[in-house]
Amino acid sequence: MKDRPPLGDVPIAEFRRQLHRLADWIADYRETIGDIRVAPNNKPGAIRAALPAQPPEHGESFENILADVDRLILPGMVHWSHPMFLGYFGWTATAPGLLGEIITAPLNVNAMTWRTSPAATELETVVIDWLRQWMGLPDQFDGVVYDTASVGIMHALAVAREEAAPSTRKRGLIGARAPVFRVYASDQAHSSVEKAAIALGLGEENVQRVPTGPEFRMDMAALRVMIERDLRAKFKPLAVVATVGTTSTASVDPVPEIAKICREHKMWLHIDGAYGGGFAMLPEFEWLAEGWNEADSIIINPHKTLFVPLDFSVLYVRDLERLRGVFTLVPEYLRGDTVEAEKNYMDYGIQLGRRFRALKAWVIWRAFGREGMVAFMREHIRLAGLFADWIKTDHRFELAAPVVLPVVCFRFVSGDKGKIDISNSEIVERINASGRAYLTQTKLRGQTVMRIGLGNVLTTERHVRNLCELIQKTAGEMEGRAPSRP
Ligand code: PLP
Repeated sequence: MKDRPPLGDVPIAEFRRQLHRLADWIADYRETIGDIRVAPNNKPGAIRAALPAQPPEHGESFENILADVDRLILPGMVHWSHPMFLGYFGWTATAPGLLGEIITAPLNVNAMTWRTSPAATELETVVIDWLRQWMGLPDQFDGVVYDTASVGIMHALAVAREEAAPSTRKRGLIGARAPVFRVYASDQAHSSVEKAAIALGLGEENVQRVPTGPEFRMDMAALRVMIERDLRAKFKPLAVVATVGTTSTASVDPVPEIAKICREHKMWLHIDGAYGGGFAMLPEFEWLAEGWNEADSIIINPHKTLFVPLDFSVLYVRDLERLRGVFTLVPEYLRGDTVEAEKNYMDYGIQLGRRFRALKAWVIWRAFGREGMVAFMREHIRLAGLFADWIKTDHRFELAAPVVLPVVCFRFVSGDKGKIDISNSEIVERINASGRAYLTQTKLRGQTVMRIGLGNVLTTERHVRNLCELIQKTAGEMEGRAPSRP
């Protein structure tokens, strides 16, 4: 009984002490992150086995809990903020971003209506507009912050569905006598398109995957053929999802041509710029935003590219009222807290309770400024180019896709031709199991390739060089011969 803290919340003097301790813990983690294993090599279930299965009956001290974080949780983490974490798109932990998250925690507000959170609401409007300006989007576009792009596309397609079959919101698809809709996305587009179709009752199979050309960009002739075919079969083409920065290779679909087809067939144009969109901030990448003015909706994920910690995704809609019309619904108990003249972000989606996500974006974007973000993005592009050059100098490897943004897909092509896919998977698995770096594998045209993404502010040329050596050494060990240095 003696060791137990008193029931209830922590006295303020004690809390202050804990916070100081935690500040050191966070700074120590950030300072030493480059020296620890990137990923654990645990067997599934090992962490759960070390944790008590019974829920706690008695309160415990913060010291005990933090000690268990160090002992049980940290060793079981993949450290996405590690400079050698090069999986997916790299990652967006930064010191100012962490501070923004920390400030958000004690406020713990619900940004559902203006009245329940005036500053959270208005700051959200402000950061959405900052991003709009950085992206060069005209001001008919306004947006809403969601957790993820997957949630964003579902809302965008809900608006497309309502406009193509009015009163679906009220009566449902059958009641509204909706046709069978078709949505088109390239064979490289993200699986969130199907997820949205599942959630909206459009049907997973009605997402039609359009083939891509040699650079993994949507093939326009194929799109036209598929739309004509579907019209003959009495389907109703609803929307095209154009991707700016696809998940595997970061390829960019030809948005202006897609926009033209959407106009001809009165289809919704959704741009998935979840990853690539943020790079439109760079003058040399303004071309990424070509055709965006013609879109109905656009997704940008600043938690992938623009240094905001997970999660923070913005859906822009041309004339945001279209989105509000589909989702506004004010129950009586919220009516008193609903000021019509102001934005109530609960009206723009299915979520009622909403985190104050805008604060961390505001903190990091002010701390870096446009200039700072552009400098980091340029550096990541430079590092991707260096890595690609190193790959090109080793005849055992080849680039598997053009390098457009800081994502490099490459393939080990040496050895037994029948085992090349397995070798590529094995290199990735060996490296990840070593704890020295983390990369991912994907399939392109049915072939397994390795893939790195650069986006972490801690990753430097030295890390990329180390990774290159590690890949070459691992490949060399598998071939049973010494590696060649870059
Ligand atoms: N779109 C693209 C191009 C992606 O690469 C991803 C995820 O990697 C998504 C959408 C889904 O993003 P989220 O995790 O925010 O739902």
